[in-house]
Amino acid sequence: MKVTGISVTLVVQALMDRQWKFARGQLDQTSALLIQIRTDDGLTGLGFAVQGLHLGEVIDGMRQVVEEHVAPIVVGRDPFDVEWIAAELTARLPGYTRTKAAVETALFDIMGKALGVPVYKLLGGKVRSSIPVIRILPIKAPADMARNAEAVVADGFRFLKIKVGTDPILDVDRVREIRRAVGSGIGLTIDANQGWTPKAAITALRRMEEFDVAIVEQPVAADDYLGLAMVKASTRALVEADESAGSLADIFRLGREGVVDAVSLKSGKLGGLLATKKAAALCQAANLRCRVGMAGASRFNAAADMHIIASTPNIDYACELAEFTRMETDPAEGLEIVNGELTVPELAGIGVTLRAGFG
Ligand SMILES: [Mg+2]
Repeated sequence: MKVTGISVTLVVQALMDRQWKFARGQLDQTSALLIQIRTDDGLTGLGFAVQGLHLGEVIDGMRQVVEEHVAPIVVGRDPFDVEWIAAELTARLPGYTRTKAAVETALFDIMGKALGVPVYKLLGGKVRSSIPVIRILPIKAPADMARNAEAVVADGFRFLKIKVGTDPILDVDRVREIRRAVGSGIGLTIDANQGWTPKAAITALRRMEEFDVAIVEQPVAADDYLGLAMVKASTRALVEADESAGSLADIFRLGREGVVDAVSLKSGKLGGLLATKKAAALCQAANLRCRVGMAGASRFNAAADMHIIASTPNIDYACELAEFTRMETDPAEGLEIVNGELTVPELAGIGVTLRAGFG
């Protein structure tokens, strides 16, 4: 089997909450490329790459990269040569990790469809058949965030990720109000997106102690290893790297320096499913906890990540697989969260299909 063509379609998705805010900005819509790879067997593989301004990855550049640089590498190759293709993409195209991840996802979709198996079977087989899902709460006034938290818990979710990283005192109010609203049985993560100084982080986390925060994600600047170490030494919460963990080499350094307890693995940040599996292995070797953070707000992204999680033993905490529900539209269908869990479907390929009217 050979790849015969690759095409891209622009997809703009509006957020239902037009004031969706985190410590580094506000979003009301996202732009993405739907990537379709076709083969001489008549199969089509699908991938979805969301623009990532913070990664230096913008739509026009992504389109140019696919059409002028990815296509010559992929067209004419056997889609099963995915390690070779991933290595070529990594060597020839620095950055563009979300684009590369979407290309790889489309290749895995083809492989699964060709063999009639779900993608997790190509990644080591299934170690879990359902995955607990964590929902992200954008920054708002504390009372509004508490109301949102109650609604999410009423939908069946048991894990919440609270966006913080503005004023530390207000951030403490946010966590207090949310804990009061949802009660003690709900797992709380906070994500400051680098918004705090080390001292602000330590002060805020001390005041949050009684609210039982399980994980604090990226409390300080990505390259502030001393700050991360200070925060790690001062709190019971697991300190998790997200922006600090942009590559396999970053994760190796984090493990070697011992400055965090955990890592948020993102296939769109690391450049694909294979790289994410390798990152999980690195975490295991370094005694770092890991879970999967969102790679994009479509079921295409959640489905691709689902197969990584289903096949990787040491990804053992709630993962960000429900953020497609924050969008008004989704070009993919076929995946739903029930009672805060995603049950892995047994469909061939990545397990979602293109909704009529897209692509
Ligand atoms: Mg984060």
